[in-house]
Amino acid sequence: MPKATETILEIDLNALDKNYQYITSKIEPGTKVLAVVKAFAYGSDSVAVARELEQLGVDYFAVAYSNEGEAIRNASIETPILVLHTLPSNFENIVNRCLEPSIYSRKILEDFIAFAETKNQKNYPIHLKFNTGLNRLGFQETDISFICEKLKSTKAVKVKSVFSHLAASEDLKEIDFTKSQISQFQKISEKIIDTLGYRPLFHCANTSGIINYPNAHFDMVRTGIGLYGFGNDEEENKHLKPVGTLKTIISQIHTVEIGQSVGYNRGFIAEKITRSATLPLGHADGIPRSYGKGKGWVTINGEKAHILGNVCMDMIMVDVTNINCEEGDEAVIFGPQTTADELSAAINSISYELITAVSQRVKRIVVRN
Ligand SMILES: *Cc1c(COP(=O)(O)O)cnc(C)c1O
Repeated sequence: MPKATETILEIDLNALDKNYQYITSKIEPGTKVLAVVKAFAYGSDSVAVARELEQLGVDYFAVAYSNEGEAIRNASIETPILVLHTLPSNFENIVNRCLEPSIYSRKILEDFIAFAETKNQKNYPIHLKFNTGLNRLGFQETDISFICEKLKSTKAVKVKSVFSHLAASEDLKEIDFTKSQISQFQKISEKIIDTLGYRPLFHCANTSGIINYPNAHFDMVRTGIGLYGFGNDEEENKHLKPVGTLKTIISQIHTVEIGQSVGYNRGFIAEKITRSATLPLGHADGIPRSYGKGKGWVTINGEKAHILGNVCMDMIMVDVTNINCEEGDEAVIFGPQTTADELSAAINSISYELITAVSQRVKRIVVRN
């Protein structure tokens, strides 16, 4: 592992491989795997991650928006890419880059069919998204006959898959709710097969769905957070390894006398002589201000150093009073040891939010540990 000389996000492709193997060990051999690489592959590097997963034989990718799909297509990724949140202004980009839109409303269906017809498309692959309780995006079951009539009136598009999204698959207090989503999806899938006249792929399980609901894998599963090393569950986390390690160095150390303060708005006032280390990352790099005033910490030479005062845009100061360290030493924000799960819990957040927040200013370094 190279030592940090500035703020870097290390992306461990061996950890990604292991997580992929673990997740695929949870599904039947014939079940397809869709890897979710939206938001720069959960804050890492979507091209590096997509290349690795394509090599491992993943069946599908998904991104949220078409520009994310374009970025991985431009890197010569040939695996099909589902765009989860299709916007009419992105149709052109979607078709130009051979991306496959999620169609979630009557308007998007009509507009996309019209667009595909003007582009003389035949059997352009689309994916139908159904709402079974998340109430975010998706058709209702009652839209099925409308959808099938529209589809029968055109040759421009063809349904590649039908899917839904679970609202609380990680929350075992919501088992009944999740089961009702799954059975509703089952019912939708049967109706679709009857009305459409051919059989697309069906899928509804995200990472926690894969782990907690083995009967809901259908033809394909969609995994995001699991690939990056988090199972939304302590037991599962033992089998997964965080892919990203965010680390930096100590730029300067100050001795702060009693009564002196550290940082903007004098967010920390020393009640005893304090050694403060300044690190070159702040809220513009993805450390929200809410981690300030002792809530968040970094690890320096194996010890926890809590944030002193407020998080600045480009820096944080941490308490190294009781830590044997010097300028130039490494500080780890999160990684396999202090996990993003653990750190984000300090502000009642979740790993997803912390890892996707690492800004594009932070250099990505791909490693195989
Ligand atoms: C982000 C997303 C996923 C991935 O969920 P994880 O919990 O990260 O596995 C799957 N499906 C849809 C529709 C999503 O938006």
